[in-house]
Amino acid sequence: MAFLELNVLDNESTAILGIDLGTTNSLVALWRDGRPEILKPENAHDGRIPSVVFFPPEGGVVVGREARALAADRPDRAVFSIKRLMGRGLDDVAEDVAAIPFPIEASEGGVPRIDVGGRKMSPQEISAHILHHAWRVASDALGEEAPKRAVITVPAYFDDTQRQATRDAARIAGLDVARIVNEPTAASLAYGLDKKKQGTVCVFDLGGGTFDVSILSIEDGVFQVLSTAGDTHLGGDDIDRLLVEYALADLASANAAPASLLADAAFRQGVRFAAERAKIALSQDPETEFAVVAPEHGIAWRKRIDRAELERLAAPLLDRTLASCRRALADAKLTPSDIEEVVLVGGSTRIPAVRALVADFFGRAPHTELDPDAVVALGAAVQGHVLAGGTRDMLLLDVTPLSLGIETMGGAVSKIIARNSPVPTQVTEGYTTYADNQTGMDFHIVQGERELAADCRSLGRFELKGIPPMPAGMARVAVRFALDADGILTVTAKEETTGTQASIEVQPMNGLTDDEVESMLAESFEHAQEDFDASRAANLDVELGTMLRAIDAHLEEATLDPESLADLEEARAEALAARGTKDLPRLQAARDALEQASLPLAALLMDSVAKAALSGKTLDEVTRGSET
Ligand code: AMP
Repeated sequence: MAFLELNVLDNESTAILGIDLGTTNSLVALWRDGRPEILKPENAHDGRIPSVVFFPPEGGVVVGREARALAADRPDRAVFSIKRLMGRGLDDVAEDVAAIPFPIEASEGGVPRIDVGGRKMSPQEISAHILHHAWRVASDALGEEAPKRAVITVPAYFDDTQRQATRDAARIAGLDVARIVNEPTAASLAYGLDKKKQGTVCVFDLGGGTFDVSILSIEDGVFQVLSTAGDTHLGGDDIDRLLVEYALADLASANAAPASLLADAAFRQGVRFAAERAKIALSQDPETEFAVVAPEHGIAWRKRIDRAELERLAAPLLDRTLASCRRALADAKLTPSDIEEVVLVGGSTRIPAVRALVADFFGRAPHTELDPDAVVALGAAVQGHVLAGGTRDMLLLDVTPLSLGIETMGGAVSKIIARNSPVPTQVTEGYTTYADNQTGMDFHIVQGERELAADCRSLGRFELKGIPPMPAGMARVAVRFALDADGILTVTAKEETTGTQASIEVQPMNGLTDDEVESMLAESFEHAQEDFDASRAANLDVELGTMLRAIDAHLEEATLDPESLADLEEARAEALAARGTKDLPRLQAARDALEQASLPLAALLMDSVAKAALSGKTLDEVTRGSET
C-alpha cells in the first residue's frame, strides 16, 4: 500500500483549519502567529474533544466532553469510537460492531446504520457531528467564525472508501475539505521533517485503544507511505486492564472484597480509573500509590507500585508493538538502522518504557518534543497553512534542549521550563519566603535534568531585595522565565504586594555542544532514582526546618497535656537529629512522626485562633501576634 502526498500550493489566501478526527479524541488547530496552535474548548485543560456523540431522548445532539459525561448515566444514548465504522461494510467490522451497544443494520450498499432510540444514522452523519463540534470549538476559541476549509487527518491504512466517508462527513458538517492527510504524515509535518531533502521516517502511534506504525519516505518535501502495520485493539486501555486485574487479584486473595463486588461493573470502573491514574503517575515518578478506596463497601486498598512492576506487567503488550514495527520494516524492505527519524504519537508514548523500547529498537532517540496527543492536529494545521499559501519559518522546531529552573531551599531544583519546550516561551511560578521577616531572596538559575542544583549547570544568580517584612510564607513572589526565539533567557522576580522586582538575562545555550547536551541527558537517566531520593531528602529537610520553627514559635504559649508534650519533645529531638543526614527513610519517618506529634498542638492553636476571632480580633492579628 502506498499513498502519495504532494505538497501542491493552492493560491488560496483564506486560513485552513487542521482537524485530527480521532477514534477516542479529536483536536482542532490553526496556524497563528507563525506556528500551529491547538484551539481549546472553553475552560479545558487541553485541546482534546472526546469523539463522543450523545443523543438525548428529547431530541437534539450533544458532542464532546458533555456527551462523555452524559454517557455515564445513559450509555444507551452515546456513540463512541464511530471512526472504527467509517467507510466499512457490516461484514468488515463484526468485531467492532459486537462492542457497540446499539442495533446496527445495513442499508442499501452495505453502509451500516446505527439505531439510537429510533434515530437511524450512518457513521458519516455521526462523525459529522464531531467535525461540526470541532469547528464550533475553533470558532469559540478564535472569538469569530472559524474557517470552513479544513485539512482532516485519517490513518495511513484508510482505503479510498474510508477516505471518501471522511470527506462526506465533512461535507455534512458544512466543511470544505482542503486535503485529507495521513496521520503519520501530519505528525512528521509538525516536526518539520518535510524540510529534509531525503529521508526515512517511522511514526509510532500508541493511543488508548489502537496502535499504528507507519514507515514514510520523504523526498523534496513529498511524503510517501512505504508501509503500515499495527493492531486495532492495542493501547493504553490494555495496560489499565492489566493493572485492574492485578488489583482485583490482590483484593480477592486477601479476602478484602466479596466476589460479587469484584464482578460489579461500577466498582470495576472505579478500579479502572485508579489504575489509569497510577499508570500516568508512573510516567512522571519512579513509584506511586495505587489506591482503590470505596468506603461504601469498606474497602481501602493501597499498594505502592513502581515503574519496574508496571513494566513487567506491560512487557508482553509492548513486545507486540515491536512485532508490528518489524512487520512494517519488512514490508518496506528496510531495517531499523535505515530509519533516520522516529516520531512518537499518542498518549501512551509518554510511558518511559515505551520511549526506551523504541529508542533501543531503532538505535536512536525518538522525537518527543511536541505533545504526543496534539502532534497530528498541529501537523494538519501546518498542512493547512501551506495549502493556504503561507510559508513556514524556523520557529517551529526550536526547542530548548535542557530544562531551566531555579535552586530551591535545600539544594533541589524546581524546573520551570521543561526540556524540549518550543521557544519562545514564558512560564511564571509563585514562590514565597522561607523565614519570618525575610527581606531578600536569592535566585540561582540552573540548566539540566538532574534533581540537585549542584549537579546542573549554573547559569547565574541574582537577588530580589526590598521584600516588606512579613511572616514566612506570606510574601508572594512571581518568578517569570521568558525564553526568546534566540535562546536568551530573562528571569524576573517580582514581589506582588509592593511590585519590587529584579531580573537577570542569561544565555543558556551558550557553549553547549550537542554532545554535551547528550551527555547531560544520559547522566540524568543514569542517576534518576538516586537524584529523586536526594531531592526528596533535601525537600524533607527543609520541610522539617519549617515545621520545627513553627512548633518552637508556638510551644510556649500552648498548654499541652504532659503525654502529648513528651511525644512532641521526642519527635522534635529526632527531627533535629535527622536534619542534615540526607537519609531519606529517616527524614521521612521523622517528618511523619513530627506531624503526628504536633496534631494536639495544632488543635490547641486552632482553638485559640477561633476564640480570639470571636473576641473581635482578626485572624491576621492573631497569627501575626503569635509570630512575634
Ligand atoms: P490517545 O488516544 O492518544 O489520547 O491516548 C490515550 C491513552 O494515553 C490513554 O490510555 C491514557 O491512559 C494514555 N496516557 C495519557 N497520558 C499518559 C501518561 N502520562 N503516561 C501514560 N499513559 C498516558
